[in-house]
Amino acid sequence: MSLAHGRHFLASPGPSVVPERVLRAMHRDAPNIYEGPLIELTEHVLVGLKTVAQTKHDAAIYIANGHGAWEAALSNTIRSGERVLCLATGRFALGWAETARRLGAEVVVEDFGGAAAVDPERVERALRADPSIAKVLVVQTDTASSVRNDIAAIRAAMDAAGSEALLMVDCIASLACEEFHMDRWGVDVMVAACQKGLMTPPGLGFVFAGPRARAARARADRVTAYWDWEPRLEPGVFYHLFGGTAPTHHLFGLHEALEMIAEEGLEAVWARHRRLAAAVHASVEAWGTAGPWALNIADPASRSAAVTTIRTGDLDADALRAHAEHEQGVTLGVPLSLSRPDTVGREAGLFRIGHMGHLNPPMILGVLGAVETAMCALRMPHGPGALEAAAAAMAADEG
Ligand SMILES: *Cc1c(COP(=O)(O)O)cnc(C)c1O
Repeated sequence: MSLAHGRHFLASPGPSVVPERVLRAMHRDAPNIYEGPLIELTEHVLVGLKTVAQTKHDAAIYIANGHGAWEAALSNTIRSGERVLCLATGRFALGWAETARRLGAEVVVEDFGGAAAVDPERVERALRADPSIAKVLVVQTDTASSVRNDIAAIRAAMDAAGSEALLMVDCIASLACEEFHMDRWGVDVMVAACQKGLMTPPGLGFVFAGPRARAARARADRVTAYWDWEPRLEPGVFYHLFGGTAPTHHLFGLHEALEMIAEEGLEAVWARHRRLAAAVHASVEAWGTAGPWALNIADPASRSAAVTTIRTGDLDADALRAHAEHEQGVTLGVPLSLSRPDTVGREAGLFRIGHMGHLNPPMILGVLGAVETAMCALRMPHGPGALEAAAAAMAADEG
């Protein structure tokens, strides 16, 4: 008998749960795209995006997913033949680097494996050894491995090496989940998308460009008409902001999501994500006391606040996900390959829990309870006390 009735819960690391408020904001008549409320609302969206990115620089908005934002960021900055350093910690920097290779860059990969963060000392050595590196590509949170990289430390390593390269950071999984300061941390280009921490259905990609990135645009030789960020960053008319028709309903939805973030307060949003992530980590550790369950990222300082990758040893992670999906109404994250950039590559013995965006303790306890229910139903050995440990982690004071 399936118990999967009531509201289906998407606990995958993107897209994330869309709040009722965002859905309601999108449920409206088609607006005039030349004058009226949409124009003013878009001004607010642009300001709100700068706030969540902690930057005074503008974002170019694309009707695209994260892959589109990847291509937009690179096509505005790459010169064919130049060397691009990819700091790989799972899968997503490798995917971005593949986009760079297809645009004519020569990609150099520094691979930190699928279970640890970027080591800044190695970055410094790599940049000293090759001063021709023109771009450094890194993700803040790698959504496959669930590692969180220390962006400020990577910037410091680049500075210590005397590197002139642009620091380009993928915050697609981490923006509005994880503490991030584009300007304070010296990030030149940041890419994001609307369907993870920003709680809006997939469809908008963002590229934030600092002054050094804007200067690189003048030397880039792969800029194409649609992806060119100049008209979007310096729009003569509203129409230029989107290179064509505005993403009308997405803008209403994103505006509402940014309002929700502003009402809660960005720091409170980051703190909530840390607390809910700690609950997930505590549960996995409890299960692991009498079973093969383990956090993929052993070092607590390198764990993402937005997603957790869980190792299941020789137990069948796909069966566990199928039980959660069909018998209980919870979608867990599929295991992505930690070594190959192809999107279909999957790795056995892993699943992921997304905990990004519109979430509270009942939702997190619900997904952890559903995972444990699947373990019981499938007779998978696991240690006791996981939900108690999660509750204690959520009740604990910070620090
Ligand atoms: C989800 C994600 C992407 C890809 O975004 P799409 O919208 O699926 O194209 C890229 N990088 C990271 C870190 C992600 O989490």
